[in-house]
Amino acid sequence: MKKIVGLILSVLTISVSAQSKQDKVVLVIHGGAGTILKKYMTAEKEKAYREALTESLTKGFEVIKKGGESEEAVIEAIKVMEDSPLFNAGKGAVFTHEGKNEMDASLMLGHTMQAGAVAGVTTIKNPITAAKTVLRNSAHVMMVGKGAEEFAQKQGLELVDPSYFKTEERWNSLQKVIEKDKDKMELDHDAKTQAYVPFNFVDEKFGTVGAVALDQKGHIAAGTSTGGMTNKRFGRVGDSPIIGAGTYANSEVGISSTGWGEYFIKAVAAYDVAALMEYKKLSSKQAGDEVIKKIGQLGGDGGMIILDKNGQASFPFNTAGMYRGSITQSGKITIEIYQ
Ligand code: ASP
Repeated sequence: MKKIVGLILSVLTISVSAQSKQDKVVLVIHGGAGTILKKYMTAEKEKAYREALTESLTKGFEVIKKGGESEEAVIEAIKVMEDSPLFNAGKGAVFTHEGKNEMDASLMLGHTMQAGAVAGVTTIKNPITAAKTVLRNSAHVMMVGKGAEEFAQKQGLELVDPSYFKTEERWNSLQKVIEKDKDKMELDHDAKTQAYVPFNFVDEKFGTVGAVALDQKGHIAAGTSTGGMTNKRFGRVGDSPIIGAGTYANSEVGISSTGWGEYFIKAVAAYDVAALMEYKKLSSKQAGDEVIKKIGQLGGDGGMIILDKNGQASFPFNTAGMYRGSITQSGKITIEIYQ
């Protein structure tokens, strides 16, 4: 009898620990990668970032917990960061050379392969909701500038005066960048990269935001939203609104990127993670590491958040830090900033 009880207990223990091991991640987010060093961070600032990331995870998780769609979880999580002045998306977006805020966003659903994106928009309060409207209510994948804004307005999205997006901190960043040589500038966000670009459009960190969610049906959605890079001009658009570069999702995995967009476009970075998994049978983590290595070899920097259908999350990046977080099925939140 004792033996049987012992056996039952050990079976129970094994299944309980197997269950706790299976506390899979259901939502991952990022608030940008870059030269985020602890020595430059005040306790107050770090607290503010942690609170904003926690709120984003909590809002997205509420959707998943209720049995809602991964698409909605991604939108809710991203909206929190777009509304926060701390991130380079929505309010708090970086400035173009001309002193404007031009924003990009994209969204993709893995189970249907539907995608929507907007680029260069200046009046849509939450650009991620515009990406969703393109995905849901149009026959297109990407809309840009005035046309995208007209469509958003017709769809009843909230439009704001462009001054809504302005923050002092981002304005000062632009002034600092403009004071330097405009034609030949060294990138100041990462001392190891001494590359020259035709015009200086960089900031010391990338504050783009993104989210990938896995809902109870096993559907994956990924989204990204950004103001781009400080001092960008000539209608420059980065990777964030480009499906396959900044955002990608299929039935196996979802990815959102942040970093020096030109490199993520050339590497077709987000899609490459999915392709390495499909064709080379790499795990989602191995695939992400491989792609970030490639970005580094090309001379670029940044990071990605990756979540696969098994609830495996990874956060590869080659910068000093990346604002990132995850929440599991049971509601366990993890937030990290530095390497
Ligand atoms: N990837 C974005 C871009 O190049 C910038 C960022 O991640 O903050 O527009």
